[in-house]
Amino acid sequence: MDDCLFCKIIAGHIPASIVYQDDTLVAIKDINPQAPLHVLIIPRRHVATVNDLSPSDDGLVGTMVRRAAALAEESGYHERGYRTVFNTNREAGQSVFHIHLHLLAGRPLAWPPG
Ligand code: AMP
Ligand code: ZN
Repeated sequence: MDDCLFCKIIAGHIPASIVYQDDTLVAIKDINPQAPLHVLIIPRRHVATVNDLSPSDDGLVGTMVRRAAALAEESGYHERGYRTVFNTNREAGQSVFHIHLHLLAGRPLAWPPG
């Protein structure tokens, strides 16, 4: 998608701090981290929101969640705990309309969220 920030990052047209990549996913450090570990797990394929996922994407979503777990473990947070979040549309504060799973860890995370 021409006008999508994360498509531009994935294409290498905008720099980012990449912490993991494979044929399906790219994981980058969030530019405005909300916790000591704040990574975004992003599929290479453009999907605007969670509402736009189809049954054929079930494997993709599982791969994203399991990659978050692997990155949490690599960073030493899998026992302490971490949070994985998809924000969808306006009231959830979605600002980039290319799905991404937030991985947050390294401090106590309040519940309910703000
Ligand atoms: P959301 O609000 O759920 O759509 O999350 C978008 C996230 O992307 C926010 O946490 C931003 O801080 C982050 N973000 C925006 N621009 C960049 C960028 N150029 N590199 C890395 N993260 C970014
Ligand atoms: Zn995109």
